[in-house]
Amino acid sequence: MSSGPDLTSGARIAERARKVVPGGVNSGQRSVPGLADLVVTATSGARFRTADGREFTDFHSAFGPPLLGHNDPDVARATAEAGTTLGHMGVGVTEGEVELAEQLTELIPSVEKVLLTSTGSEATFHALRVSRAATGRRLVVKFQGCYHGWHDSVSLNVISAPEKVGGHDPISTGILPEVLDATLVLPFNDSEAVRRTFAAHGQDIAAVIVEPVPHNVGALLPYQEFLTTLREETAKAGSVLVFDEVITGFRHALGGWQQLSGVTPDLTTLGKAIANGAPVGAIGGRADLMDLFSTRPGAPAFFAGTYNGHPSVVAAALATLRKLREEPVHEHVYRLGARVRAGLDSLYTRLGVPAVVTGHGSVFVTYFMPGDAPRTYDDLLANDAALFVGYRRRLLDHGLFELPLNLKRSHISYAHTDADVDRLLEGTEAAVQAVLA
Ligand code: PLP
Repeated sequence: MSSGPDLTSGARIAERARKVVPGGVNSGQRSVPGLADLVVTATSGARFRTADGREFTDFHSAFGPPLLGHNDPDVARATAEAGTTLGHMGVGVTEGEVELAEQLTELIPSVEKVLLTSTGSEATFHALRVSRAATGRRLVVKFQGCYHGWHDSVSLNVISAPEKVGGHDPISTGILPEVLDATLVLPFNDSEAVRRTFAAHGQDIAAVIVEPVPHNVGALLPYQEFLTTLREETAKAGSVLVFDEVITGFRHALGGWQQLSGVTPDLTTLGKAIANGAPVGAIGGRADLMDLFSTRPGAPAFFAGTYNGHPSVVAAALATLRKLREEPVHEHVYRLGARVRAGLDSLYTRLGVPAVVTGHGSVFVTYFMPGDAPRTYDDLLANDAALFVGYRRRLLDHGLFELPLNLKRSHISYAHTDADVDRLLEGTEAAVQAVLA
């Protein structure tokens, strides 16, 4: 890992940032209470370093992209090579884009054709636009606790206060009420609510969009029967089923959650782990729907983006996929993820702390509440947020980083080792005991 000389402290850089960047950060959830002076200067594998010379083992993983670890050397090399040989022309197509599209169609069950974007939000935006274009209908359905990006139709009901659950809870002002009115919000894992909604509004529903595992509130594991109900009801009503696999895609399996569950949506949105941290998103699915995008002459759903298919990003994705296919990445992260969950589970039992340790594969999260693994957002309302955030703040004293924000999941990467897991378990024990003391 290379980091320049420490000429300025984190506090001074962060202060400069606050003068010229609103809130001092470039994305909503990067400003973390208690961590106002966090200035990252270098990342490598499972670690990052700050301007104040501190080194952390990272279990936050930038909200999920670096499945191989930060700055994977093969991905970094491929990215740099494409930058020097290709730059970005923005006309025609490059062979890398074709190769990436071929691999995505081969790997992901629902994907017959695919388009690249620069972010996951653009992918989910276009999924809803093309669903409305295809059906001529107005309504979309989303689920409480799911996040699909920053655009208006889905900017509601992610982490809602208890009194806001059941109604519309926008995450932003400035959204037209008629846009919010066109989004129906249902409880996740509630098949009966889905059936009732389709009975009442089925002919007006353009799309159902869902995180098959709502990881934006940690990990709500889906009932298989819930996913099949979504498939059946949308098929019956002629609505489009969109799996937002921006987190679950590639991280949980090369074919995403749809491969693991055997439920095939009409459209799939992807991002994050495809390119190990390079800015990428993708929308793919049924050819007849994808052919409605204006990339095909005369087609009705406008689709564009100056940086779509940027050669460096495509090279990063191809290098990432090569490694995911050729090396035991999933075996490694699943094994360490299971070790973390089992270790934390016995730790909390030993300490007598009511806790539910859950997740899947490389993703783990502990909710501080009694009972079984939560399945609905309502279940999460029992979580002790003060302890959830408090122990993560204490973890920082042990050089361990899990994002100290309520309900945020943590990630294992291919760069983490058994020793990192040992240190996490020891540090967690000390951190929890310190909060409870
Ligand atoms: N969908 C899901 C499930 C996400 O978790 C996110 C981002 O966290 C998005 C969409 C939006 O992706 P992006 O931040 O790349 O726009």
